[in-house]
Amino acid sequence: MSLQDLLPPGTYEEIAGTRSAQPGTITCRCPHCGRELPYDVHNPFRPFCSEKCKLLDLDAWANDELVIEGNSVLEDEDAEQASLVSDQIQGAALEQNR
Ligand SMILES: [Zn+2]
Repeated sequence: MSLQDLLPPGTYEEIAGTRSAQPGTITCRCPHCGRELPYDVHNPFRPFCSEKCKLLDLDAWANDELVIEGNSVLEDEDAEQASLVSDQIQGAALEQNR
């Protein structure tokens, strides 16, 4: 008779901490909601905790990316062309002054 036999099933494991944190058990955090979940290769939504989080997160990513890309590409091109043009104007002006 040991302590484990006297306690209700699962209680000893809980007290000893072997049930919730087994050595070698890998947990990961859902990148969307931050919930900690056991790393499971059979989880089709990993690293997300659920299909909902996966879809919401990918959706947010796609939207963010489109907005950032569209804006930054346009701004970068405009800025580059503007500085190129002003360089050419300055260069031409210097040539004429020589
Ligand atoms: Zn989640």
